[in-house]
Amino acid sequence: MDLLNTLVDKGLRRELPTREEALAVLATSDDDLLDVVAAAGKVRRHWFGRRVKLNYLVNLKSGLCPEDCSYCSQRLGSKAGILKYTWLKPDEASQAAAAGLAGGAKRVCLVASGRGPTDRDVDRVSETIKAIKDQNEDVEVCACLGLLSDGQAERLRAAGADAYNHNLNTSEGTYADITTTHTYADRVDTVQKAHAAGLSACSGLIAGMGESDADLVDVVFSLRELDPDSVPVNFLIPFEGTPLAKEWHLTPQRCLRILAMVRFVCPDVEVRIAGGREVHLRTMQPLALHLANSVFLGDYLTSEGQAGKADLEMIADAGFEVEGTDEVTLPEHRATGSCASTCGSASVPAAEPAPEARTDLVAVRRRGAGTDLAPNA
Ligand code: SF4
Repeated sequence: MDLLNTLVDKGLRRELPTREEALAVLATSDDDLLDVVAAAGKVRRHWFGRRVKLNYLVNLKSGLCPEDCSYCSQRLGSKAGILKYTWLKPDEASQAAAAGLAGGAKRVCLVASGRGPTDRDVDRVSETIKAIKDQNEDVEVCACLGLLSDGQAERLRAAGADAYNHNLNTSEGTYADITTTHTYADRVDTVQKAHAAGLSACSGLIAGMGESDADLVDVVFSLRELDPDSVPVNFLIPFEGTPLAKEWHLTPQRCLRILAMVRFVCPDVEVRIAGGREVHLRTMQPLALHLANSVFLGDYLTSEGQAGKADLEMIADAGFEVEGTDEVTLPEHRATGSCASTCGSASVPAAEPAPEARTDLVAVRRRGAGTDLAPNA
């Protein structure tokens, strides 16, 4: 297919595809799916080989958020029966992180619900980062605390944070439909603050919220412009008790096409399969490893993932290898910070049959951080 040859060439050169090309990837038919995966897989292997980076989530503070993000089980007014607790103490968070690191993770993502941290919260997280790094000096720590005020990114960097995550989630045009308590511009501003403070920026999206193909392409092109080092791709987990509980639109094939499009648009960036991997890709997860070079190990913030051991087995069975702490994730031009931002028509498809709701696959997290039970790692 000419489209795929063009996209592979562009991906190897870090050249931006056109919007039409990105849309065409999303519009490919199931008959062409393996060709799409193989083409995007060439780009993935060129920049990241067969390595898979494992990341581990620690939910520092769960639920009770005053913001109203429709997709989130921790939102204002959420009726989802999730764990709710306030800030973990540094030693509790460090203990939770240690389980993930022992399981093979090289990055720990410290996440807290809320609009954004107070300066006291930044102190708290700084103590937590120190506690984790005292135990594991090679670990990468990413903080995800919401919207940052002036100076907070610098303080987190000084405390030892390596990265900061703040997702754009969806296109600018549809942002107000999913959240009213903050704006798309607020989110962009926080990613820029993280970047400016010397933190590795991590920013991604959530697919499956009823958006159009054009919205997906918009958000991925905006991410490329923001130039984060890592792009988590979440697939909506339609939690009962949230406004998007009925949004079961994704199929495994659709998820693979979305990941392929992200890989073509952001070829040399750490593309991470994030929340919803097990729920939506299901038995097709191994194919997604040909597109993404990073996954979360174990559980998510408020829902359970498959057993950490199953993640490791899947990676090995698919012919990939877990990235070690002595290996550099990003290609050289990115790892040295010298990327000059250069990175970064098919037939109309048959309508996809509506997927069924798979609420049986959504398990609220009941173990690990904030509980007395052992974590999944
Ligand atoms: S700000 Fe974060 S925790 Fe709060 S509702 Fe939005 S996504 Fe959820």
